[in-house]
Amino acid sequence: MKNTILVTGGAGYIGSHTCIALHQAGYEIVVYDNLSNSSREAINRVSHLIDQPLTFIEGDIRDAKALRQVFDAHQFFGVIHFAGLKAVGESVAKPLLYYNNNVSGTITLLEVMAEYDVKNLVFSSSATVYGDPETLPIDETAPRSCTNPYGQSKLTVEHILEDLAVSDTSWSLISLRYFNPVGAHPSGQIGEDPNDIPNNLMPYISQVTVGKLEKLSIFGNDYPTVDGTGVRDFIHVTDLAQGHVSALNYLEQLTSSRSPSDMAKSVGFLPINLGTGKGTSVLELVNAFTEVTGRDIPYQFTGRRAGDIASCYASADKAKVLLGWYAKLSVAEMCADTWRWQSMNPNGY
Ligand code: NAD
Ligand code: UDP
Repeated sequence: MKNTILVTGGAGYIGSHTCIALHQAGYEIVVYDNLSNSSREAINRVSHLIDQPLTFIEGDIRDAKALRQVFDAHQFFGVIHFAGLKAVGESVAKPLLYYNNNVSGTITLLEVMAEYDVKNLVFSSSATVYGDPETLPIDETAPRSCTNPYGQSKLTVEHILEDLAVSDTSWSLISLRYFNPVGAHPSGQIGEDPNDIPNNLMPYISQVTVGKLEKLSIFGNDYPTVDGTGVRDFIHVTDLAQGHVSALNYLEQLTSSRSPSDMAKSVGFLPINLGTGKGTSVLELVNAFTEVTGRDIPYQFTGRRAGDIASCYASADKAKVLLGWYAKLSVAEMCADTWRWQSMNPNGY
């Protein structure tokens, strides 16, 4: 039996897939989620997929008292911290909510971790911290800047983690900067379940394909890219989930190392990109989805979306060198798995 991991936000899209990967890797899991953007059904389905009940506690990361009860009841090796709000547009309308939830919530979590001397954290950061990149592919040393409160909340947490690592060298704080997570578990049982009309491209495409939405608007066809549409680094959510397992394995190896010459038992603040390293344009993704599903996807070109950048894709070298992790699944597999989830669950959970 491996170590026990607290997974905040584990009922959500990326968290639920990561729970399965963690279970398969032998970890014990405790999920802590306030269900503000997820449902109990996701927990039920993960339990079904791993063939045992998933330990789930409904609670908020801003509630220190409730967190302490969880830390009293379990001895954690570390925390994977997914819990957060993620809608860019909503963050512009409700900045206080976003800073309160994502920044204050993380501070509360870190304070409780410190109280219990649990100092291994894997944090969900985002490629959004790179703003409009000066060079491509983007590596982890690229300058960071953000233009909206959501991005700013991620960047602020990164700054907090950096300061914390300087103040106390026993922390290991891995900040995984996700590029564009898409796809679903191959069973079709769990996937992305947006509350409203989706903001992101892949769920929009799949809802048009299933007939829930009429037509895709492609925001801009005059970018300096292969076909004028925006370019992103889409990464399959199960590859992304595996990246978290690799990050934990890396931390475990460090802490279990007995070599006297190898004194470093912690990594401080360690940012790592999780992407494929390959850019795909909006039109290329639409065409791939059409090919995989055999369905027509009506679309129209409209103006650029405010705040969008032309191209964004990762240098994925650091994850490969340090963690031995790289993304394995193709864009076709991302489309096929998204479609299986969408067509089996046209109304989500
Ligand atoms: P999600 O909304 O599906 O999952 C987040 C989970 O956190 C939800 O289950 C929600 O109920 C929970 N949560 C939110 N606030 C909470 C709080 N105060 N206390 C307890 N639980 C809380 O989102 P996701 O796509 O799975 O994203 C997971 C993380 O990865 C988020 O931090 C997000 O910002 C980050 N991220 C996501 C993407 C993406 O495109 N999906 C990209 C980069 C980074
Ligand atoms: N996009 C689009 N239509 C949509 C949603 C997104 O054309 O309905 C484009 C968007 O302009 C960007 C790409 O798809 O070029 C990815 O957008 P998404 O919101 O999924 O990710 P992000 O922009 O946050 O990387």
